[in-house]
Amino acid sequence: AVGCLIVISAVSGVIALILILVDIKNMYQPSPNKYGLVFDAGSSHTSLYIYQWPAHKENDTGIVSQISMCEVPGSGLSSYADNPAQAGEVLKPCMDQALSIIPSQQHRETTVLLGATAGMRLLRLQNETQTQQIFDKVSKTLRLYPVHFQGARILDGTEEGSLGWITVNYLLGTFIQHSYINNWIHPQGVQMFGAMDLGGASTQITFHPSGDIQDKSTEMVFRLYGFDYTIYTHSYLCYGQDQALKRLLVHIIKKTSSRSVKHPCYPKGYTANITLSSVYNSPCVLTMPDDIGANVAVEGTGDPSECQMAIKNIFNFSACSTKSCSFNGIYQPPVEGEFYAFSAFYYTFNFLNLTYGQSLSMANSSIWNFCTREWNELTDSFPGESRKRLLDYCSSAMYILTLLVDGYKFDSRTWNNIRFAKQAGNADVGWTLGYMLNMTNRIPSEGPCLLKAHYY
Ligand code: AMP
Repeated sequence: AVGCLIVISAVSGVIALILILVDIKNMYQPSPNKYGLVFDAGSSHTSLYIYQWPAHKENDTGIVSQISMCEVPGSGLSSYADNPAQAGEVLKPCMDQALSIIPSQQHRETTVLLGATAGMRLLRLQNETQTQQIFDKVSKTLRLYPVHFQGARILDGTEEGSLGWITVNYLLGTFIQHSYINNWIHPQGVQMFGAMDLGGASTQITFHPSGDIQDKSTEMVFRLYGFDYTIYTHSYLCYGQDQALKRLLVHIIKKTSSRSVKHPCYPKGYTANITLSSVYNSPCVLTMPDDIGANVAVEGTGDPSECQMAIKNIFNFSACSTKSCSFNGIYQPPVEGEFYAFSAFYYTFNFLNLTYGQSLSMANSSIWNFCTREWNELTDSFPGESRKRLLDYCSSAMYILTLLVDGYKFDSRTWNNIRFAKQAGNADVGWTLGYMLNMTNRIPSEGPCLLKAHYY
């Protein structure tokens, strides 16, 4: 019996040891996934995107997925110019949420980035000190977390456009594709997608033209997965949706010396009193009036034809003397191939149910119809919609039409090459994914054969 007891306790000792070893192994087992966090500090709001990819497939294309997104409360970072401490504080709930999703053993390896776009570009033009104070506070807050914080900065317009283009083509697998014989190939004869982004303060157009790019300041060259890509990109500061509508209002106010104005893009029946100081508060709007403290009575007339004419005035079309030109004298080769149009292009067209591949003439007539609807009828039909958005949808939609048709020169033939979309593959379309891929060297410059070697 004693011998038996010795054998049993020896066996259970071995089993316990095995269990402890298995437990230790599990504790140190690396997580199968990696994570990255990118704050998109836009002009009107900040969002946090949470990305995940399998750790053993670092450099495959299209495998990064967006697992969550968090909206930071309040307006864009630039609205904290007078209270920079708050700019850091407001990021905390989204950081906490993201870290509750990511396994804790992965936190230290998680890259965190913050990129600010045209809202902060405009604030920098107005006040460099306030801009720096906001970044100091934001960085101080993000450094409190046990993550790999790689910095907060302003992206320039060219970067913003190129990174949006990289995101779209990465998600759609136009750089490399997995073939049926289980290796990575460069897709033959596949056209790259163009990218059009409409933010609140700037808008970007980026595509791969087949001919030469004559103005080298609009050219970007990348080597990705062993292939060279030459793209055209341009960012128009002050042509984002909110700044464009502000400039439209200024144009309408300036046309008359009276402080009572008729706005053809606002619905008939809409009236409001606005302060001049709430309009002349941006570097996109120059020459302030003397009576900046005065009020203006605005009345909507819901006249699409007048609205379109007024919107054309915020572009300078006569500054273009050649065909390869959009507006304001900016060089642009003819648009080519399919495009993804995202951010406010999507939001506005989605509201008007215009994201289903309608023709240009159908889009045109829907927008004209919408612009003739009366204010009472609109507020009754869309009770949940904020008044500000409802008020602006006619102007925004007409602005988008003018930008795409008169500006970028899409016509009835090329219009259907535009996909108004929020997502491609498994993530939101925007510059954030491209930024993360770039900052973490996740898109190799050398080609698929090297990638294949990565598995051996
Ligand atoms: P940003 O904050 O610079 O990224 O710009 C986003 C733009 O999208 C701003 O002009 C917002 O006003 C606009 N936007 C956001 N949500 C909506 C929506 N639901 N409908 C129309 N425009 C929107």
